[in-house]
Amino acid sequence: AAKDLGKNRYAFYKKELTDKAEYRFKIEQYLREAIENQQLSLVYQPKVDIQTGSIIGVEALSRWHHPVLGQVSPVDFIAMAEQIGMIKPLTEWVLKTACNQANLWKEAGFSSLIMAVNISPSHFLDSDLVPLITRVIKETGILPGELELEVTEGVIQTNPENLAVFEHLKQLGVLLSIDDFGVGYSSFASLKHLNVDYLKIDKYFIDDILLDHKAKLLVSSMIEMGHNLEHKITAEGIESKEQYIMLKGLGCDYAQGYFFSKPVSANDVSILLENQ
Ligand code: C2E
Ligand code: MG
Ligand code: MG
Ligand code: MG
Repeated sequence: AAKDLGKNRYAFYKKELTDKAEYRFKIEQYLREAIENQQLSLVYQPKVDIQTGSIIGVEALSRWHHPVLGQVSPVDFIAMAEQIGMIKPLTEWVLKTACNQANLWKEAGFSSLIMAVNISPSHFLDSDLVPLITRVIKETGILPGELELEVTEGVIQTNPENLAVFEHLKQLGVLLSIDDFGVGYSSFASLKHLNVDYLKIDKYFIDDILLDHKAKLLVSSMIEMGHNLEHKITAEGIESKEQYIMLKGLGCDYAQGYFFSKPVSANDVSILLENQ
């Protein structure tokens, strides 16, 4: 009987796995269609100059709303897009949409805003990235100095090929930033080798900057070190006025977080820009 039970359990387990695989396959199919039919959308989260409080740019963030699945987190669908080989068309769509939006804001008179786009690690290391960025600049007419690429440090290995990608991008004149700085394993190695414009200190450190003296010391040290290496520092995930005041006091350059604005539609950004 025990054997039968085991067998049944196995059968059950196997069926569950198959269902999961089928479910997954379906979601992948939905995502493929969404990318092909451009059913994704972008929201934009303002970045402010911490000393003046004025908006200096925005970060484009992808959103996928599926009629049946509902809102899917970009953390999930970006990873899935990488797995099913759809990250390149996705990134291209994000870049073009974001740059076109940047042009619209410029035409509306909001000049010299910086448009930041996240580039997923695997795509960053792909030889296709530099030609893609070159093409996007040419096709959309965005000034290279108004386009910022955010990449997480975790994958930045300091092998010559990866460093060459950074150098080529710098030669194009785009701005580069290390996203989620401080939580990856190669923070210091990447700083030694990479010529980036911004470090974005991860929300992890900002979260308890008021409560934990060590967190405050770490942030303060990161700001000082970053400045010594001639990087500008952005704090991400600021949710309260007290955090903002503390970071301002620590000499941080830029800030981003729900305290200033959540990621919002292009229209809502226009309203924020008009009101400042
Ligand atoms: P990220 O680039 O580090 O973006 C910051 C994330 O933190 C965003 O989540 C943003 O909505 C959220 N956030 C910002 N301020 C606050 C705050 O004060 N409090 C809290 N709780 N959260 C805050 P989101 O939009 O869900 O994106 C998550 C991640 O997905 C991004 O992290 C980025 O790694 C990735 N992602 C989003 N869009 C794209 C894209 O178009 N391409 C690529 N490659 N990755 C993307
Ligand atoms: Mg980012
Ligand atoms: Mg980040
Ligand atoms: Mg993040």
